[in-house]
Order: sequence, then structure tokens, then C-alpha cells
Amino acid sequence: MKKLIVGIIILSLLFTGGCIEKQALENRAGEELKTKEYEVTMKRDLLCLMMAYPQDITGVEVGKDSLVYVVMKSGKRIVYDDKKTKSFDGKLNNADLQDMLEQLYPLTDIQTLMDENNDPGRARVYGLLKEVYGGTKEQIEKNLKSVFAGGKNVVFNKNNGASTALAGAMKEIAALAQRKPSIYPFVYPVNGTYNYRVIAGTNQLSPHAFGTAIDLKRDNRDYWKWVSREEGQKRLDMYPREVVKIFENHGFVWGGKWSHFDILHYEYRPELILKAKYFSEPPNLQNPWYDGVDYTDDRIKGYIEVIERVLK
Ligand SMILES: [Zn+2]
Repeated sequence: MKKLIVGIIILSLLFTGGCIEKQALENRAGEELKTKEYEVTMKRDLLCLMMAYPQDITGVEVGKDSLVYVVMKSGKRIVYDDKKTKSFDGKLNNADLQDMLEQLYPLTDIQTLMDENNDPGRARVYGLLKEVYGGTKEQIEKNLKSVFAGGKNVVFNKNNGASTALAGAMKEIAALAQRKPSIYPFVYPVNGTYNYRVIAGTNQLSPHAFGTAIDLKRDNRDYWKWVSREEGQKRLDMYPREVVKIFENHGFVWGGKWSHFDILHYEYRPELILKAKYFSEPPNLQNPWYDGVDYTDDRIKGYIEVIERVLK
């Protein structure tokens, strides 16, 4: 009897030990997988940034602090991930490049307003915007160019192809409005583009301050601070998606795809559109990290090589 009890105790100890060891192995495997997915996501994000800002981002480097940076034409370095833990508001107020690209912008149509705090594009890295579009009001204003937008001229930042992208989108929308007059009241008259101001209720500059955002014709149900979600949803339901598609094709994100909706607002954010286009799926670690882009394109191949060299 005694022997049997001792035997049972030994067996159960062995079993528990085995379980703990198995758990530890599983935990380690889970963490390794997470690290690999993080690394792939980082490389993809860096590639999207290099593709989106080809004149301004000249390279990638690992700092003495072991953090990863993009290097700008001016020599300034912008951190990819500051490794700080942030709340949702913390990410909006102090976004790094990783925060900015964390929420995937959907290129597919949405039927209902985005889930709570799903706002792909609302986090912006001001260091990047200042480098690309101008660091001060005076510098930004020097970069503004006139664009024809349905019966009137508006100004938009010419850097990084922003004003060319807007001109292209407005031209297509004008042609669409000719074929389909029902879109007129959603677009014209355009409400505004450049305006050196902060975002209402914050001390953060608006993308309008950089001349990289346009508000189409205003409706009182367009903005999350003006109306209830129900009213916003009604506006979303009737909104012509052809207009959205045209802007997205030209590198703009639509504020209608934010839980904090801003339905009249379009913002030139090529990095988000590129990420949505090429990397909408979570990393598949069986494939090369850049799977999805056309890496036979010499320019893209060059960026991939830079990232591979720096982040082995
Ligand atoms: Zn706006």
C-alpha cells in the first residue's frame, strides 16, 4: 500500500513537472513567434515609409540606444518604435512611426462606422510631416501650390507629390460628376484645404496646417464631435463610395473610415495606402517579409536591400 502511494506521488510529480516544462516551452515559442512577427511588421513598415517618402527618407539605421531610426535627407533621424507603453490618447499625442502604422487602413468598403478607437491615420508623426512638408508656417506656405478643385482654386503642398495627387483626384471627380450629377452635393463647393491651425480641442497641428488635407462640402453630420454615431452612420450610408475610391487611388485616406469619423476629410497619407495595398494580411513567416510587393522593381529592390543590410 505504502509503495503504491509513493508511486502515485512520484508519478504525479513527474506529470506536473512535465506540464510546467511544456508550458514554459510553449510560452517561449509564443514569444519567439511574437518577436518574429514584430520584426517582419517593422521591416514592412519601413519599406512602406521609404516607398511613400522617396525624396525625404534616405536610409535606415540602428542607433547606439539599439532603437531603429529612419534617416531623413536633412540628416535628422526619426525613431521607428520608442518602446514606450502608451494609451490610445498617448499614441495620438506622441506617435512614433510604429504607432502611426499600427492600425491598418481598410481599402475595402465599410458598411458601418469603424469600431471604437479604430482610427487608421489619426496618429501622425509630426517630425516626419515637418521634414517632408515644411517645419514652420513660412516654410509650409512656400511649398503651397494652386490646384483646381471644381470651380475654384485651392492650395495644397507640392512636396512629395501631394498637390499632384490632389489635382489628379479632383480631375477624376469632375469627370465622375459629369456622368453622375448626384455626387455634386457631396463634393462641391470644397470646404477647404490649407489652414494653419491646431486640431479642435487639442494642441496638435492639423494636417490642414501642412496643406496635405482637403475637406469636401460640409454636412453637419460629418464630424464625430458634431453629431451622434447614429447620425454619422446615416451620413456614411448615403456617401458616394466612388469619391472615396478615387481619393484612395491617389494616396489619400478617408476620415469616414475612422471611429472618430470625419467624413468630409481626405488626407494625403501614401504610407498607409501602400501598407493597406501590399501588407493587409498578418505576416506569414514561411514567406519572405516583403512578399506582396513587386520586388523585381529596381527601386523597391533597393529599399529591401537597405532594410536587409541594416536589420539582419
Ligand atoms: Zn479636414
